[in-house]
Amino acid sequence: MANYRDIFGTSFDCPCGRRHQIEPREVVYGDDAIGRLGEVCRRAVSIRQGGGNRVAVLMDRRTQQAAGAAAVEALNRGGWTVREILVPDRARGGSPVCDDATKDTLSEMLGQVDLAVPVGSGVVNDLGKWLAYERGMPFVPFATAASMTGYTSANVAPTLRGIKSLLRAAPPPAVLSAPAVLRDAPYELTTAGLGDMLARPVSSADWRLNHLLFGDYYCPRAVSLVAEVEPLYIRHPEDLKARKPQAIEGLFAALLLTGVSMTMAGSSAPASGGEHMISHSLDMMSDTDGVAHDLHGRQVGVGSVLCAELYRRVLATELPQWTQPPGGIDSAFWGKLAEPVAQEYAQKVPRLRHAAEALAQGGAWDRFREQLSSLIPPPQSLRACLTAAGAARSAEDLGCSKARLLEAFVHAGQIRSRFTILDLAAMLGLMPALAGGIVEEWA
Ligand SMILES: [Zn+2]
Ligand SMILES: [Zn+2]
Repeated sequence: MANYRDIFGTSFDCPCGRRHQIEPREVVYGDDAIGRLGEVCRRAVSIRQGGGNRVAVLMDRRTQQAAGAAAVEALNRGGWTVREILVPDRARGGSPVCDDATKDTLSEMLGQVDLAVPVGSGVVNDLGKWLAYERGMPFVPFATAASMTGYTSANVAPTLRGIKSLLRAAPPPAVLSAPAVLRDAPYELTTAGLGDMLARPVSSADWRLNHLLFGDYYCPRAVSLVAEVEPLYIRHPEDLKARKPQAIEGLFAALLLTGVSMTMAGSSAPASGGEHMISHSLDMMSDTDGVAHDLHGRQVGVGSVLCAELYRRVLATELPQWTQPPGGIDSAFWGKLAEPVAQEYAQKVPRLRHAAEALAQGGAWDRFREQLSSLIPPPQSLRACLTAAGAARSAEDLGCSKARLLEAFVHAGQIRSRFTILDLAAMLGLMPALAGGIVEEWA
């Protein structure tokens, strides 16, 4: 179990042809993590010129209690000059958001510091990573939930102009967490982490799809990185529910390694495909109509089941009938977001044409099906895993109607330039035709 940490800080020549340098350099996971925070931060600032001892600890009201206050105390004790930044909750209530307005507000509060320590999960971590990147300083996250893949990744996923976007930043030199903190996190956050991890085989298949169709870069090592820890929670999802230490550490390790796989790939492709676009669409719909949405990973878990079933149906097609791919987006549906969505989609249109030509060549479709079919997990196994863990597995669990989930499923392919199973299904005339039935049966 401890072996998963061996890869951090290494560099190696990979069969994919690239040399990978694995960041973070260290992961500290243990009961003594808070106590070691000061020493880990010391190493983080010493990596770059200048060093320094001024640290900003970012947290929200909830994560302050979970670990933030203890982190501040430990850093003070360790001789750091600590600036405490409480990330404000949303104006209308509810946990904070990661958008440019919030980031700018925090930037003003930050003052002159040498290092950021976000204590939290998705939003707090992303804001800390974003601010640190803007200032060219390191950040060292203290994770308070096994809820998402962003702790180790180089990306920030803010909402810009109403669209869920992806910005390049830098990965952290170190990540810390403690078993008791992850165990006591709100359980829905842990189930969100599980949902985010169940996306992995589906999104890796989407990545492979792009490799096969367009010759995009692909790294098999990045895909297999989590193989060793995945069984700890996939085979016994009920262990997560029972808060068994091995299952929680396994899930946390998988989330960290998945973040690393994205850095290896130089994009979010290994861990974010069509299933993520369904979740992002639900978020964007919520931003537009003011209706609440569920946690990223919980939505992703449901999206993964839908996309696994869509893959199954696409790959079962023996005699494909290629249809003209949609040339544009559904502007009426996206409303005020139509313009930025259209810009994203326009970048994908040449790929749709290229894919249709490539797959129409003699024998190409059968070869393609053969290369992808072994990668896709059966949708029933994904759903069984979500069920056994007590995670969200239906529209109802996500607090949205089936009709709303269906809208997200049907329109998700339009929001990003990335080619996914959603596009392939549309080219075969299976989307939106099958979407209603799939949502009915699987969500
Ligand atoms: Zn590689
Ligand atoms: Zn995700």
